[in-house]
Order: sequence, then C-alpha cells, then structure tokens
Amino acid sequence: MGATSVSWQDRGRCRDLDPDLFFPPVEAESTEQRHAREGAAKAVCASCPVQQECLSWALSNRERLGVWGGLTERERQLLTANRRRATRVMAAG
Ligand code: SF4
Repeated sequence: MGATSVSWQDRGRCRDLDPDLFFPPVEAESTEQRHAREGAAKAVCASCPVQQECLSWALSNRERLGVWGGLTERERQLLTANRRRATRVMAAG
C-alpha cells in the first residue's frame, strides 16, 4: 500500500490481497457495499502482525482514504479529533 514501500508493509497481511478491498471504488458504492467491504478489510487487519505500525503510519501521514490499521478513514478522523481534544483538556489542566 502507498507509493513508498516501508519495511512493515512487507509483513502486512494485505500485501498479496486486492487493494480494492481496502479502498473505496472510483464509482459510488452503496452503504451496504461499503460496510461489507470495510468489514472484510478489518477482518484481515485484525490478525495482521503490523496493525499498530500501519495505523501509526496512516495517522502520521494523514491518509485520507481506505482502511489502515483496522480503521476506516472516518474512524481515523474521529480518533485524531479525540486525541486533539484530550490534548487540549490536559493542557488546560
Ligand atoms: S493493518 Fe490492515 S491495512 Fe495495515 S498492513 Fe495490516 S492488513 Fe494491511
């Protein structure tokens, strides 16, 4: 996945799978189709030995599309927003 190969990606369970499972199609997909696709991708991620590295990389690089580290783009956005909120609360004391 991604333009630049990094070592953890060589150990990802998705390495030899169709990327279409992890990324939305160019054409629209129904909510039902998206849930099915994302669920299948997440099932692969759930047993991936580099899930944490993958998620960290996606968050650091602000990957906008696809399932990375077991989280969808929307879930990563929520995680980032929650982390920012927690940081602000802690900074405020
Ligand atoms: S966590 Fe998922 S997307 Fe990331 S390398 Fe593993 S299987 Fe691929």
